[in-house]
Amino acid sequence: MASGILSLGGSAIRAAYTPDSPVGVLSSGERSELLSPTEMRWLFGWGRYPAGGYLDVPLWFPLILAILPTAFAWRLDTLARRRARVGLCAHCHYDRRGLVAGVVCPECGGGPL
Ligand SMILES: [Zn+2]
Repeated sequence: MASGILSLGGSAIRAAYTPDSPVGVLSSGERSELLSPTEMRWLFGWGRYPAGGYLDVPLWFPLILAILPTAFAWRLDTLARRRARVGLCAHCHYDRRGLVAGVVCPECGGGPL
């Protein structure tokens, strides 16, 4: 039966895979493939041991995966609030200053702010 195990080192997560071991049971050779808490890995790594293999994923990678969409959404929100504050249309950025409140955008027909 196949099994997998995750181990956390100093700067990486190691996913180890053993195709023939019962779930949660590692042989002594596989235990030596666990990351030690002080082991520093800054790059991706992979390897094989007699029955299975492992993949090292540095901790900066999931951090980047979380930060990039968050920063992008934050930037879009900041721009939308800035446009609303200065009176631009939220859809086409047409300058709505001077228009009566509640009318649709004369440029794109978008709803009022
Ligand atoms: Zn508009």
